[in-house]
Amino acid sequence: MIVAVTGGAGFIGSHLTEALLAQGADVHVIDNLSSGYRVNVPDGAVLHEADIRSPHARAVIEGLRPEVVFHLAAQADVQRSIADPAEDASVNIAGTLNVLAACREAGARKIVFASTSAVYGNVGKEIVSERDKAEPVSFYGLSKRTAEQYIRIYSQLHGLDYTILRYGNVYGPRQTPKGEGGVVAVFLERLRQAASPVVHGDGEQTRDFVYVKDIVAANLAALTRGSRETLNAGTGRATSVNELLRLLERCAGVPIERRHVPGRPGDIRHSRLDPRRARRTLRWTAAYDTAGGIAETYASTLPSSR
Ligand code: NAD
Repeated sequence: MIVAVTGGAGFIGSHLTEALLAQGADVHVIDNLSSGYRVNVPDGAVLHEADIRSPHARAVIEGLRPEVVFHLAAQADVQRSIADPAEDASVNIAGTLNVLAACREAGARKIVFASTSAVYGNVGKEIVSERDKAEPVSFYGLSKRTAEQYIRIYSQLHGLDYTILRYGNVYGPRQTPKGEGGVVAVFLERLRQAASPVVHGDGEQTRDFVYVKDIVAANLAALTRGSRETLNAGTGRATSVNELLRLLERCAGVPIERRHVPGRPGDIRHSRLDPRRARRTLRWTAAYDTAGGIAETYASTLPSSR
């Protein structure tokens, strides 16, 4: 099976590429290396260095005729989306449209799209389901929400199958301390520099932290299931920032000094994703608990410090 992974040189895309190769797929990565790295692309996958908005990327997909396109390439940084909404919209909306046109031309069976819990904005509920209204509060959330809608209408008009996965806060090896939801990577980077992690507010704010291997498993499940579905890809569990630090302390074997600074205005206090629909339709559930995922991430990031 030929598959294309846009953003396959990035954090999540490179893990997905590895897993697809392990399943025997012929994997082609389309990435402009703007936040990803050539070294992230596993041996055995072909890297096509191209911007998803470009005629080149479109020609690559049309030439490959992949059965499935995993579309992960994105401007994934909330703060950058606020600083430069036009660039964010260009990559996340126009880029997705170019990928969709290529899918259609190539006769692809399905697109699997990396969306985000940021599409929900401030729902005002501690657990968010797909039935809740998606009213983003950042341009990033809005561009992803809009891309989702283009995918749905494209599917209605042109018959392209899709699964939209709304990821929680993904963490794991190879994550860099930028982009979306990267608090684990930020903390690990501080620890690598022997500096104290900075906690905004009291640290009791919670998020749905989901391990990258679980996100890969959800994407693989979408190869055959979840037709025309929009699904939360989270654990359904709330983990606080303080809890994350306790888990990292356990890995380090020493207490971790932390520095508290005032909370950021507009930050959501608690958020977790209701995973039941994904469990039903994808037959997928997050297999890693936070302790297990953090231990693996720590071991691969700071391997010599134990
Ligand atoms: P990442 O920055 O590591 O990966 C994104 C990849 O896309 C990079 O390799 C980058 O070079 C590439 N890219 C960016 N713009 C491009 C363009 N115009 N043309 C071609 N390639 C381009 O980020 P990630 O954390 O691996 O995120 C992957 C996807 O998952 C993104 O769509 C992101 O919005 C989504 N997501 C991530 C999280 C998270 O917690 N990390 C949460 C929700 C959703």
